[in-house]
Amino acid sequence: MKYIIIGGVAGGATAAARIRRIDEKSDVILIEKRHHISYANCGLPYYLGNVITERKKLFVKTADDFQKRFNVKVMTETEALSIDSVNQSVKIRTSKGVEEDLTYDKLLLSPGAMPVKPKLKGIDMPGIFTLRNVGDTDKIKAYIDECICKKKYPDKKVVIVGAGFIGLEMAENLKNQGLDVTIVEMGSQIMNPVDFCMASFIQNHLIEKGVNLRINEQVESFEYTSIDDSFPISVKLKSGYDIKTDMVILSMGVRPQTSLIKNTDIKLGQTGGICVDQYMRTSVKDIFAVGDAVEYPHPITGRPWLNYLAGPANRQARIAATNMVRGCIDKYEGSIGTAIAKVFDLTVAVTGLIGRRLQQLNIKYMATHTVSCSSASYYPDSSSMIIKLTYSPANGQLFGAQIIGKTGVDKRIDLFSRIIKKKGTVMDLMEIEQAYAPPYSSAKDPAAIAGYVATNAFTKEMPVLTWKRMFQELHGMGTIKNLRILDVRTPEEYKENYIEGTENFPLDELRDHLKELDQNQPTLVFCRVGLRGYLALNILKGNGFKEVYNLTGGVTVYNSASKVWITNKK
Ligand code: FAD
Repeated sequence: MKYIIIGGVAGGATAAARIRRIDEKSDVILIEKRHHISYANCGLPYYLGNVITERKKLFVKTADDFQKRFNVKVMTETEALSIDSVNQSVKIRTSKGVEEDLTYDKLLLSPGAMPVKPKLKGIDMPGIFTLRNVGDTDKIKAYIDECICKKKYPDKKVVIVGAGFIGLEMAENLKNQGLDVTIVEMGSQIMNPVDFCMASFIQNHLIEKGVNLRINEQVESFEYTSIDDSFPISVKLKSGYDIKTDMVILSMGVRPQTSLIKNTDIKLGQTGGICVDQYMRTSVKDIFAVGDAVEYPHPITGRPWLNYLAGPANRQARIAATNMVRGCIDKYEGSIGTAIAKVFDLTVAVTGLIGRRLQQLNIKYMATHTVSCSSASYYPDSSSMIIKLTYSPANGQLFGAQIIGKTGVDKRIDLFSRIIKKKGTVMDLMEIEQAYAPPYSSAKDPAAIAGYVATNAFTKEMPVLTWKRMFQELHGMGTIKNLRILDVRTPEEYKENYIEGTENFPLDELRDHLKELDQNQPTLVFCRVGLRGYLALNILKGNGFKEVYNLTGGVTVYNSASKVWITNKK
């Protein structure tokens, strides 16, 4: 049996190693067009930020080591040019420039994705980079060392175009290298994979860290500045604004690398990715595909989608390899897009379907926010984490979770991901038995609290309104007639952070002031995070109030989101 694998990094190298582990005798050929295989592309931003100081640590295995360990023929700097699926062969161009045809019995495609690079004037000029592989990283590092660090002017600037995961990781790492960082984002928020209100916390944090943001702004062109200017590149925005800089990182997203399958019968899907079935088979016999290049139905929506993440690429590779060797026995269940990133002192994580996506898909959903401590609140270094859950109003099925916090975000997001993948409900969150000691959590873990709160909202024990609804009510865009809005925090808190249009009825005095309120008037209560609001809601309901809501996430979410909403609209 002869296996050929195209693409030698996450999916390709994993599949090659797996094939060899379960089939000692076959011929395995790994074809990679670049110099390196099996490296940590997820680590590249941290190498550029000097967090990873030794370049060699980026390489999981060199081509020689891989060849020796797995008895796989590794052909680097060799590009697969075309596929002849009738004669089962691949045309390649080797590192020596020689073209030849290699036959296969089974073929695996793991060509990955390529960065989006629109045809803008000046986009190919020196000093403008994308970050996808080791070669890109070396070029960026050399440019920083040679052209930026040796500059006689003290100011060193970079513009990052695109505020997704990689753009923000680069912002942190380059800021930590002493560069003045400006992020340009054409959308109305940064960090598109999470909802606006959650992204607002990251946006406020970036500003605290001295990162310049230009949201709702589109790049029009790149131009050279005059020769004696201290910054060589001018980034022209459609708004007319002009940013002078030393360097530009384009982080505008990626799309599947599928040029190789042109002129084959391999089917591409709606999203532009290679269609695969649950065994990772393409539409052509004996050709499998994995990783960033494939589209697969989302386990909740059933709709095809692309998933640019390392975990799914590795999992798909193992499944494909097993099926290539043993026949189709392993099935892929699909990915719900569980992702995490560090942005300076914060961690942002997401799994499943966020509110914006549910809205686009016309799927009815409810959302609640909680703010709780990552470890026991009395334990040193305990910090808050904000959790947003989205779930079905029909049966409480958990659709998605998003978390922002300093510590403990990783373990909670993985827990939510497990429940979502198993099609569990918000009630299931209350049943999870979690290990507890003060340094790690509280007896009511943030995930359990999120489950309690969501269950209260789902069962209508606690009707909630989101920050956006309260904002609309306060700004003449409301839908609840004659809504009265009560701040149940202490007078000190109220004074310090007063929201116009609201009245202060501190929780502990609420029972004494019931006569000043009208049981028949719709009432919204709020506090700092939502707990006192919940208690106030119960007092009012217990005293005959007919329509009472609690502000989910309290002023913590309201203040962050409304501040950024107003800023980004300007
Ligand atoms: P890749 O790993 O990109 O490998 C594809 C390989 O195929 C490339 O080396 C390419 O040169 C080769 N190739 C393409 N066409 C041909 C051809 N015709 N002939 C020969 N070779 C070819 N994911 C996470 O989950 N978490 C993270 O923190 C994270 N951080 C990231 C940071 C960066 C900077 C980048 C670039 C990606 C990051 N990712 C992260 C995404 C993750 O790396 C990818 O999802 C994963 O590598 C996809 O694996 P793949 O095998 O599909 O593609």
